[in-house]
Amino acid sequence: MDFELNEEQRMYQRVVRDFCEAELKPYAAEVDEVGDLRWDAIRKMPALGLTGLQVPEEYGGAGLDTISAAIAIEEVGRACGSTGLSLAAHNGLGCGPLVYWGTAEQKAAYLPALVNAEALGSLALTEPQAGSDLAGGVQTSARRDGDSWIISGSKAWITNVKYAATITVLVRTDSDKGTSGFSMIIVPTNAEGLTVQSPEKKMGLRASPTHMLSFDQVRVPLENLLGEEGKGFYQTMETLDNGRISIGALSIGLAQAALDESLRYARQREAFGKPIAQHQAIQWMIANAAMEIEAARLMVYKAAWLKDQGKNFTKIAAMAKLLASEVAEKAAHSAIQIHGSYGYSSEYPVERIYRDQRLMTIGEGTSEILRLVIARNVLKEIEHLTPA
Ligand SMILES: Cc1cc2nc3c(=O)[nH]c(=O)nc-3n(C[C@H](O)[C@H](O)[C@H](O)COP(=O)(O)OP(=O)(O)OC[C@H]3O[C@@H](n4cnc5c(N)ncnc54)[C@H](O)[C@@H]3O)c2cc1C
Repeated sequence: MDFELNEEQRMYQRVVRDFCEAELKPYAAEVDEVGDLRWDAIRKMPALGLTGLQVPEEYGGAGLDTISAAIAIEEVGRACGSTGLSLAAHNGLGCGPLVYWGTAEQKAAYLPALVNAEALGSLALTEPQAGSDLAGGVQTSARRDGDSWIISGSKAWITNVKYAATITVLVRTDSDKGTSGFSMIIVPTNAEGLTVQSPEKKMGLRASPTHMLSFDQVRVPLENLLGEEGKGFYQTMETLDNGRISIGALSIGLAQAALDESLRYARQREAFGKPIAQHQAIQWMIANAAMEIEAARLMVYKAAWLKDQGKNFTKIAAMAKLLASEVAEKAAHSAIQIHGSYGYSSEYPVERIYRDQRLMTIGEGTSEILRLVIARNVLKEIEHLTPA
């Protein structure tokens, strides 16, 4: 076993951290206030491979391993949660499915613009009545009409669509076939009949755009099908497995930011004649956060490593995202406590970090659903070893 990052991964971490310190962190409060991403920073991301982390080099991407991609998302999230979420969605939900299932023509048509940050990537799974239960709840449908698909329905809570040129949309193409009746279709955002509704008014991650969409008889060519017809549900599950590594990494970035701010404040704020960092109760909070971040980071790296080894990583990715998101929640909670009343003020970054991290136990699989995924896998392993 080797717990060290390799030389390339360490160098990449350093380069991305320097970029984030200069281009994202100083603006994190401002973008949260304004409610929009900072494009001056995003336009500089292609040079660092951030907008095509795991896109093959032949399409202009960085072609990185999954640990390096996780490191990048962690660093971005540590500097700015909103940018971290949009970048995680861009890479994992936007580029990912195109890389995995796109035809050569689709990859050539869509990936270069994503890698060059001319547009952001977006994936529409969730609907007003269907989040955790996509299989039972998705209503958006696509039917064939000559050489086109006609799409009708609505999607909710879709990240990045404001800056997307195309969205990949989960639809039912055969309502009689259950999970084998789903497909993914690429839809240009300027298609007639597609309406991007007003932005959601969110608690945190406010600079990351989130919109509801409605599809009124939207016509796209048959060749916009992504991968095989009927495989949409399987594609969704695989995309979410990958996405959980990314959201785990983002959670660690937010947890680390909460700890960074706690350490800074605790060493400078005095009470009862000494810096509060010297009070044991404060040290316990710091110790717990540092310990839990370390554990969660290792688990995210393990999930990433398993993926790169071509091994099954569904269970560990679910564990990593669940652990990291709950660690972020506790670290942000402690950070506010350590800051006292100042932690309750938007003058200090921990107030924003607290709001931003709250999504982590919800998006790309709620904690409850992740526990079901983990339990299902653990029970399967046990049954395999000791049949009942
Ligand atoms: C900021 C933001 C960005 C997002 N970006 C995207 C995006 O880009 N694309 C996209 O498709 N979606 C996106 N989403 C949607 C997100 O993935 C869903 O909100 C999430 O999957 C949960 O679905 P839901 O909100 O419908 O909750 P529900 O599924 O309605 O769940 C409500 C509660 O019931 C619990 N629950 C449900 N089923 C069970 C069960 N079987 N057992 C126990 N408990 C259960 C849940 O855990 C949760 O606590 C985004 C959401 C937000 C807030």
